[in-house]
Amino acid sequence: MLATTCRRPRRMRIEHVAEPGIEHPNDAIVRVTRSCICGSDIHIYNGLVPDTRVGSIIGHEFCGVVEEVGPSVQDLKVGDRVLVPFNIFCGSCFFCQKELYGNCHNVNSQASAMGGFYGYTHTAGGYDGGQAEYVRVPFADVGPTIIPDDIHIEDAVLLTDAFPTGYQAAEMGSIREGDTVVVFGAGPVGLFAAKSAWFFGAGRVIVVDREDYRLEFARRFAHAETVNFLEVDDVATHLKKMTDWLGADVCIDAVGCDATGSAFHGITGKILMLQAGSPIALHWAINSARKGGRISIVGVYGPTFNMIPIGNAVNKGLTLRMNQASVKRHLPRLIEHIRAGHISPREVITHRIPLEDVADAYDIFVNKRENCIKPVLVPPL
Ligand code: NAD
Ligand code: ZN
Repeated sequence: MLATTCRRPRRMRIEHVAEPGIEHPNDAIVRVTRSCICGSDIHIYNGLVPDTRVGSIIGHEFCGVVEEVGPSVQDLKVGDRVLVPFNIFCGSCFFCQKELYGNCHNVNSQASAMGGFYGYTHTAGGYDGGQAEYVRVPFADVGPTIIPDDIHIEDAVLLTDAFPTGYQAAEMGSIREGDTVVVFGAGPVGLFAAKSAWFFGAGRVIVVDREDYRLEFARRFAHAETVNFLEVDDVATHLKKMTDWLGADVCIDAVGCDATGSAFHGITGKILMLQAGSPIALHWAINSARKGGRISIVGVYGPTFNMIPIGNAVNKGLTLRMNQASVKRHLPRLIEHIRAGHISPREVITHRIPLEDVADAYDIFVNKRENCIKPVLVPPL
């Protein structure tokens, strides 16, 4: 079958590899019908995810059709259309019982702080991913969710990660009625966070990025005010000015580690940190929040050590919340939002690219070519 593999930093390629088989009675094999490239894949692409091994099959956002089930699988049958949350989780451990599915204790990556994810290298358990024709899905009765007939396949694939992650970012901000919410990052996750902020009662939503086309989309899709950080001297001061010099009630980091040029626009315009993986957006979030404000972090940080302005956070009495999204927990509510017409997630999809051309797809997404927001990969029939 065809699969996307990581050969070395900045080199994803399509390869012919063996098809996966049932390895455990609880497994299913899913034939992928759509998969996406995510900002999290950019961290692997940039070489910022520590335990990336040559030949890892990448991709954690996919949906498809059940092709085969192991003997213990009860709730799925061959031919079912499923969306598969990016978290791999057992459904019964201490963490799963608390619906912390992104932190499951029964997956391979127990040595690391997080749970297991599809296609996210040995850092997240070494499970093969979904930018491929077929995927082995462990705990098949637990993660996969049958796609309701009235849910479009392209909305379904965005329910595997980007939409629930943006939604959880807003939820973790504990937004109160009328709050001003600033979202750093106008990628798919930030856009869904901005849109979701209204569901929680925000009074004002401001999105910060450097890509004008994404900011323009944020104004339309999420009815947000926008700031292009390349056009202001100091982001935190600018945001304070926009908020009667108080700062934002809630700041959301939907950027994570960034290997590119934003470090040049660090705190008060001075260059503070230039190493790849600098938490610049998080600096800005902490410095832009009002005293007693809340910070919600869904941006992914590959390197485990980052300098963050913790003293400033302490002095301002901020509340910080962060996690990998617990996708399955949000699905019923998000499907209701789609059905009610509050959101059409697939509007963020700008590119539909054959799986064979995955190398181009990465180039377009990473380098923000052709006004790309979210590329979807379409396997051969
Ligand atoms: P993306 O790369 O498409 O978007 C990131 C955006 O941030 C880009 O538009 C970029 O221009 C902008 N940006 C860069 N530096 C910035 C700065 N200092 N301030 C403001 N904006 C800045 O990625 P995405 O798919 O939207 O994902 C966003 C982040 O969320 C990534 O770190 C990804 O790994 C993470 N993520 C986390 C989870 C989770 O469960 N916690 C799930 C999915 C993605
Ligand atoms: Zn993702």
